[in-house]
Amino acid sequence: AGKTDGKGQYRFFEASQSRLIQSRLQLKHRLLEAIELDQFVLYYQPRVDAFTGEVCSMEALVRWIHPQHGLVSPLEFIPMAETTGLILRIGEMVMEKACRQIDAWRRQGLPVVPVSINVSPKQFARGEVHRQLAVYLDRHQVPASLLEVEITESAMMGEQEDVLAELGAIRALGVKLHVDDFGTGYSSLSQLQKLKMDVLKVDRAFTSELGNSREGRVFFQAIVSMAHALGMSVVAEGVETAEQLCILQELGCNEVQGYYLARPMPAADIPAVLEQGLRSSVVPAKAGTHTEP
Ligand code: C2E
Ligand code: MG
Ligand code: MG
Ligand code: MG
Repeated sequence: AGKTDGKGQYRFFEASQSRLIQSRLQLKHRLLEAIELDQFVLYYQPRVDAFTGEVCSMEALVRWIHPQHGLVSPLEFIPMAETTGLILRIGEMVMEKACRQIDAWRRQGLPVVPVSINVSPKQFARGEVHRQLAVYLDRHQVPASLLEVEITESAMMGEQEDVLAELGAIRALGVKLHVDDFGTGYSSLSQLQKLKMDVLKVDRAFTSELGNSREGRVFFQAIVSMAHALGMSVVAEGVETAEQLCILQELGCNEVQGYYLARPMPAADIPAVLEQGLRSSVVPAKAGTHTEP
């Protein structure tokens, strides 16, 4: 199958093709091979200040460049990587690639913004994330303030002492902690505050409800007020429309991320974003000049 679209970028293979790597055993073998052949790349999706459009950070999202299928979404292989334990190797590889990339952008003299990486519950449970982070930050001479870690609520459901120790050790490095997909698990905001999480990333499911119902808006408002009262900053995931962005600005949501602002993109596209910014999509244009993307 063709691997690239007109712009010379990889595109995702069709969902129907996932049959081709559906056999679990086959997928496991292919994944192992992919790790050995280094067939993974990181895409980056900006996260921007909801009011100024300034790029605050970029989320690293892993993709598998499959020799036959092209770009494979993490949704297709992270679950298998989790059950086979291969996520430990993939996770470490993501840390290494992210640190290497930050260093490369710095050398190019680009404006520095942090990169956030996703850490899976399996990885987190090993209690080695802080140690691995220290290794790769040091190897690439990257200051810890340029790296952020996203973990889901479910990852923090283990033995409280172990969870507290690992979170504390990550924070002690100077790496900020984000709760990913907030609202899809069972943790309370007070629990998350006790764990000293810095940022709440509210799941896309809640963002998509914003324009649809009063309840959706009221719910989001409650999250924002409580998070702020507890000293946490709020990011809305999955912002797809100008209307959602507008409501989020009214609610005082700090940062936004989503297709309306920018899709995940290859590292090569990031310099232009860092140099030009995304302000035009955030700051409401003067009457009459506003155009939908
Ligand atoms: P996530 O961390 O919650 O990342 C957000 C996902 O939503 C990304 O999907 C992103 O492309 C997508 N997204 C962003 N904005 C929008 C939007 O406006 N609308 C819609 N419909 N989707 C949007 P992606 O890249 O396919 O990643 C899916 C999940 O795979 C991630 O969810 C994360 O849980 C996992 N993942 C990705 N990279 C890694 C990694 O390096 N390590 C681990 N452990 N998990 C990863
Ligand atoms: Mg994430
Ligand atoms: Mg998320
Ligand atoms: Mg999500």
